[in-house]
Amino acid sequence: MTSPLLNVDGLSKHFGGIRAVDALSLQVMAGEIFGLIGPNGSGKTTLFNLITGIYRPTGGKVTFKEQDVTGWKPHRMVAAGMARTFQNLRLFGQATVYQNVLLGAHRLAGYTLLDALLHTRRWAKVEREIAAHAEHWLEQYGLTAVRHEVASSLPQGMQRKVEIVRALSAHPTLLCLDEPAAGLNPTETQELMDFILGIRSAGHTVFLIEHDMKLVKGICDRIAVLQFGQKLAEGDFATVSGHPAVIEAYLGRRFKRAKSH
Ligand code: ADP
Ligand code: MG
Repeated sequence: MTSPLLNVDGLSKHFGGIRAVDALSLQVMAGEIFGLIGPNGSGKTTLFNLITGIYRPTGGKVTFKEQDVTGWKPHRMVAAGMARTFQNLRLFGQATVYQNVLLGAHRLAGYTLLDALLHTRRWAKVEREIAAHAEHWLEQYGLTAVRHEVASSLPQGMQRKVEIVRALSAHPTLLCLDEPAAGLNPTETQELMDFILGIRSAGHTVFLIEHDMKLVKGICDRIAVLQFGQKLAEGDFATVSGHPAVIEAYLGRRFKRAKSH
């Protein structure tokens, strides 16, 4: 059996008496779109903060690309190939769409400050590659027309797209998206689904938190359900949505709606 790209093993995060994530284990395999669902406060964002290095776990282990990355800082996780978006938008509001995307890419530019100061050939080559890559994803997601607009002047839905493209510009192996469809209308959500499928086709693995069951049903290969920081169920949509504990816990109505579509 191939080893998972991401292995979360008995991971916990306690805030005082709150067990936000409680001895949680799950595996994300290379090339899949893995969905994480669960009620508000069930620990989904905390899990992302643990695997991307924002929080140090209280206990447990995170393995990424067969390397123990437990407790690694965010910049190290980005360099290792993990990028994310946030539940609340975090763009450089005064910068343009294009500048925002370039800023994501420059974290990994691979040239030294001296190269940049001297405008070496390596610097020029890397700059060209970064620009081409940014243009590619802006084009893929229909953002080319707004690339010189100030990010904060765009509608919320479009700012979300910019944030995803910025995360992609760091060339992540694993892209983590925290509620990417929040604030999107149905047309934008459909575009987002197609875009995420395109991201996977381009060779990235996707780990997403989402409340929109149509999206989860439509594109996730496997899903884990969290409740009180623990895993309630795991499997494909049909398995998870038919799981008695899941239906009973809270999802009955939503799942029924998504199933009947
Ligand atoms: P979700 O993303 O599933 O809505 P969160 O991971 O944001 O849930 O939160 C899980 C629980 O952990 C909640 O009870 C929340 O109040 C708590 N929590 C999250 N972050 C912190 C923090 N930095 N300090 C204290 N409690 C936190
Ligand atoms: Mg959250």
